Amino acid sequence: MGFSSLQSCPSCGVAIGDLSAHVRSTECPHCANWLYLSNNGWTSGGLFEHALDAPSMLRLGRSGVFMDRRFTVAGRLRVTYSSGFWDEWWLEFDDGVHHWLEEDDGRYRLHKKIEMDATDASFANAKVGSTLQINNQRWFVTEKINSEVAGTEGSLPVAAMPGEQVLCIDVIGGGKKLSIEATGRDVSVSQSLVVSGADLLWD
Ligand SMILES: [Zn+2]
Repeated sequence: MGFSSLQSCPSCGVAIGDLSAHVRSTECPHCANWLYLSNNGWTSGGLFEHALDAPSMLRLGRSGVFMDRRFTVAGRLRVTYSSGFWDEWWLEFDDGVHHWLEEDDGRYRLHKKIEMDATDASFANAKVGSTLQINNQRWFVTEKINSEVAGTEGSLPVAAMPGEQVLCIDVIGGGKKLSIEATGRDVSVSQSLVVSGADLLWD
């Protein structure tokens, strides 16, 4: 509540310019420490080896048009799991409705955030093939992956901390397919849309 403004870096103390209201983690432009929003306000996650070397047409700061809407690549989250990794790119659109774009081995999915209070659901106990209760509705669990934040850059709408565990769960119910990502602090629920890389028209 009201923590979204960051006046100065908790690590080097240098004043930081205005951040968009949705930003909950960002790299300090002066000392490069990764800063995230915790219960104690803005916290330094320390310097973080990025290891974000895989070639991609997406790049921080690059802009273009997707479905007649202009966007800029504002941040990136690299997630690793037992079988590899994927990237989640944070795209800020000029109309203010921003989206994650998931890039997994050349495949893209655009995530549309769903407002749903999923904080009470017991994700840790969720099992593939069983159901999960969210908002008095039953959802069938189709996939569950334990992953870890392995790299970050730019600014992100989640308080992502390097090395932290992320539980990724896909569920279906009532004709909808949802993706849930849960960390110690945040639960985000989204609906995803498969897109082609050719749909991103770069400047
Ligand atoms: Zn700093």
